[in-house]
Parts: sequence; C-alpha cells; structure tokens
Amino acid sequence: MTLEEIDKEYVLNTYARNYVNFKKGVNATLYDENEKDYIDFTSGIGVVSVGHGNEQVADAICKQAKNITHISNLYAIEPQAKLGQLLTKLSGYDVATFFANSGAEANEGAIKIARKYGETKFDNKRYKVITLEHSFHGRTITTVKATGQKDMHKDDFAPYPDGFSFDKKINDIYESIDDETVAVMIELVQGEGGVQPFEKSEVQKLAKFLKENDILLIVDEVQTGCFRTGEFLASNLYEIKPDIITMAKGLGGGVPIGAVLTTHKDILKAGDHGSTFGGNFLCTVAALEVCNILEKYKNNGALDEAIIYFETKLEEFYSNNKNIFTQSVGLGLMRGLRVNDADTLATIIKKAFENGVLVLKAGKNTLRFLPPLTISKKEIDEGFKRLGKTVEKI
Ligand SMILES: *Cc1c(COP(=O)(O)O)cnc(C)c1O
Repeated sequence: MTLEEIDKEYVLNTYARNYVNFKKGVNATLYDENEKDYIDFTSGIGVVSVGHGNEQVADAICKQAKNITHISNLYAIEPQAKLGQLLTKLSGYDVATFFANSGAEANEGAIKIARKYGETKFDNKRYKVITLEHSFHGRTITTVKATGQKDMHKDDFAPYPDGFSFDKKINDIYESIDDETVAVMIELVQGEGGVQPFEKSEVQKLAKFLKENDILLIVDEVQTGCFRTGEFLASNLYEIKPDIITMAKGLGGGVPIGAVLTTHKDILKAGDHGSTFGGNFLCTVAALEVCNILEKYKNNGALDEAIIYFETKLEEFYSNNKNIFTQSVGLGLMRGLRVNDADTLATIIKKAFENGVLVLKAGKNTLRFLPPLTISKKEIDEGFKRLGKTVEKI
C-alpha cells in the first residue's frame, strides 16, 4: 500500500491532507521521497521554531531519551523546574508555570485558573469568559466554544459549556462585561483568524481597565509566544502585564508541550489540576534547549536580522503583485498577505506547493507565513523566488 492508501484506511479523516512523503528536514528546507526540496514557510504551523533537524535540540532529546523520559508529576522533574524558571526570566513577569501538552490544553488550564479565581475571590459567582471574533483557542469542547467563530460551534458537538461569549471588537468588550465576568481571553495577533495584530493602545487600554475592575486578562500566546513576533512574548511587545499567558506551538521546537504562566501563583492547589505527560523530562529538556538557542539568537541580533530580511523580501513580493494581494499584515515572523478571493488563495497555496514552497492559509482570505525563526537568507530568497514564479501564472 502507498502512504496515501494506508493513511486513508487507518487514520481518521479529520484533515484535508496533501499527500507528500517528507523524508528529511534541514532548517527551513524539507525533502520528499524523490529528494525534491521545499522551502518551508510554515514550520509545521509555527512549531519548528529552531528549524527542522536542529542538532542541538536533537542531541538534548537523544541524551534524555537514553536516560529518563518520564517519571510522572508525583516527583519533581529537574528540567521542568528549570524551564519554569527560564520562562519567568525570559517573560520578565513574576509568574509560575503549569505544564500541559498542547495549546488547547494550556487554554483549558488558563480557564480553570480563571474559574477558580472567580469562584473563590468574590461574593457572587464569576465564571464568564469573553473572547473575540475570529479568535482561535483550540479544539476541545471548551476551547472550541471559547473560539470566536460561529461555524466552529456546530450542533454536532453540543452541548457546550456555559459562560463563553465573543465580541466583534476590543471596544465592544467593555459593554459585554457584567458582574459574572471573570476574564477576557485574547490573542494579540490573531493567527488562525487572519494574522491580525491589534492596536497597542487599544490593548493597553483594555488591560488597564480589566486590572482596575479585577477581571483577569488571559493572553493566548500559543502562536505568538517564544519569539515569534520578535520578543519572547507578544505581551512584552505590547508592554502589558497579563494575569495568565498560554504558550505551546514554538516552545518545544516540535515536541508537544503547552504552558500556562500566571502571576496568580496560589489559586490552584494540589489536586486542582494535573496532567500525566505534562512537563515530562523529554519535552522540557527539548523546550529548555529551544529557549536557550532562541535567547542567544535574539540577543546577538540574528533574530531581528532574520525578521527584517524576511519583511523586506515579503514587501518586495507584495508590491510586485498588487493585482493579487490587497494588504500586508502581521508582526515579526508571523505574516500574512490578504488576497481578494478565496479561490485565488487556494490556487496560490496549491501551485506554491508544486513549485516547492510551503505556505499556509489563515481565515478566509490570508496567505500566511510562519517560517522557522532560524530560516537563512538563502532559504528566504529561494522561497520568494519560487513564490514569484508561482503567482506569475495566476
Ligand atoms: C494553535 C493554537 C491553539 C491550539 O493549539 P493546539 O496545540 O492545536 O491545541 C490555541 N490558540 C492559538 C492562538 C493557536 O494558534
């Protein structure tokens, strides 16, 4: 049987998949079974932050895998404790972390912290969480309900938990808040929703209002976290101090890990929350290495250089193709180009793939770029050369 046949027969059909058999990856370049190369402007949807086949991360994982991979959270785990310490240092916030295994699970943890805060801190019960339209917070029953996209709240999976509503704009949140509202959860750059950053002043105003009214601000940094926007957290860039921050995608460099960082360190007590795999030796050793690599990469100026180079090439590509693209959006190495219609976007992504460059879709009309943060200039050049060739014929 071919890979396609086995996959279709034995794996549940929940993804609209491309059938290519990638065999090898080096930084931002992937090779299929015929040794055809592809420039990867997706990094596995913002995950492989330090590139494919990163030697340092691989060595750290190998060394750990040959020793202890997992002991459960009934015992202290040295790399988990050290990763918690490093996340506090890199974030610059006075936080402690709970470790989960994915973005959705990190958001579940954030919501649990908020709910308990609402239950224990006030005379009345506060449990409502307000999110925003076009947000994306995950695929579990709760996080899908928190996600501000009506077409994801299908009756097929109902009933959903109570206490979630979403507003069109940040400015609408003020009116939606009532005395049962415990938290507002937002992304600072909506990733899945269309690579849409919010205005800094608007976010700062909201953060200030929430603080004054004792309502928690949860920032979902599952996609924006771990240097994606140029700073360790987008919250650093926006100069706000959220109560809870969630991370996942880029943090493990390909190893599943989620994290809930909060300044409210004493809300959850032993037994309130937990995870079998969360923060085990294997994933925290990987994430420690990823964070150490990226901290150096940021401090020596290489990250900013990569961002500027990518941006320059992207803007060049955009200005050469204004008949197709209407707007350039995003921050850092989280970028998008708005396309007039969805059909053209689908065509571009398909043809780009055939021409050896991987790109993503966001929302209904955005071509999305999430390259590895360590992408080389040569790979950026080649990727945009191939994209240029792709759109020539559209
Ligand atoms: C990807 C994503 C999630 C969900 O993460 P999973 O690891 O797929 O559960 C949640 N929030 C944001 C902002 C994301 O981009």
